[in-house]
Amino acid sequence: MVSLSIVVPLYCEAPNVELLFTRLEQVVDALGLSYEIICVDDGSKDETLDLLILHRHRNSAIKVISLSRNFGKDIAMTAGIDFAQGDAVIPIDADLQDPPELIGELVAKWREGFEVVYAQRRSRQGETWMKRTTAKAFYRLISSMTAISIPRDTGDFRLMDRRAVDALKQLPERTRFMKGLFAWVGFKQTAVPYDRAQRHLGQTKWNYWRLWNFALDGITSFSFGPLRIWSYVGLAIALVAFGRGVFLILRTLIFGIDVPGYASLMVTMLFLGGVQLMTLGIMGEYLGRIYEEVKGRPLYLVRDLYGLSETEVMVSRLEGGGQSGDRRSR
Ligand code: UDP
Ligand code: MG
Repeated sequence: MVSLSIVVPLYCEAPNVELLFTRLEQVVDALGLSYEIICVDDGSKDETLDLLILHRHRNSAIKVISLSRNFGKDIAMTAGIDFAQGDAVIPIDADLQDPPELIGELVAKWREGFEVVYAQRRSRQGETWMKRTTAKAFYRLISSMTAISIPRDTGDFRLMDRRAVDALKQLPERTRFMKGLFAWVGFKQTAVPYDRAQRHLGQTKWNYWRLWNFALDGITSFSFGPLRIWSYVGLAIALVAFGRGVFLILRTLIFGIDVPGYASLMVTMLFLGGVQLMTLGIMGEYLGRIYEEVKGRPLYLVRDLYGLSETEVMVSRLEGGGQSGDRRSR
């Protein structure tokens, strides 16, 4: 049994692998805990996987999951968490934006009895004003729309106790908005502040379109707000229309008929048409996500395992993972 599982999702991170292991191993060796480093190769197109296997020959605590294609960071991380055996699990980025040196502090808080210790950014280096502002607006929006509170300025870098991990494993949804899921499971939480570094080498895979879709995922998986608001918008428009109708009837009764109104008709029609299309679009967002979920496809497919076996996962699920094994067939 290991005490610490470090889960690293990697997509085309070959230039960072060497330094990542150097820094990680230095930190965990100093902690004196038994550990495993679970690397999930998310269908990289470069030599990431070969490098990981090479490192595994050097250090058998490094275990590798190779996924059948690129599934995206959240799912890669989920795969790693599924296979993790440790009493505590720490997901960490491969690009060294999450400083491995912080792991010591996370573990210290865990030993004090906290079940989730998240790393909270004090500063964001190398991020544009635009990115910071939109991120801030998004968190304000989502916290006003949902009941769960997602802590500000946190990413996926955190320590989770086995209890929290097992709870997380019971959430079967495909739209894995991890920040929301982490917050949803609750448990005794605390924060450790840190300065987020710049990506060591290589390029981020995020652009604004992906961020926008990420935001949609987050909002739709945790809030019905966008669906419900239209009842109220509709009611408000109906009330205004009713008032206007009464006014027109009275005016016609008192002053007789004249025939203006082309412009106002046009504006009203276009406005309502727009509102209706938007409503349909929002319903479509939810419908599409429902469709994704009911198909019930496996979250990810494993091509190869190095140092891990499927049975280990089954055993860990029987022991603690509750019903996750039955709910998410894989
Ligand atoms: N990643 C992944 N699959 C992907 C994209 C990214 O596993 O499809 C990994 C990537 O290798 C890195 C982490 O997720 O370890 C964070 O990715 P990135 O640095 O691109 O995101 P950012 O730090 O800009 O949010
Ligand atoms: Mg990064």
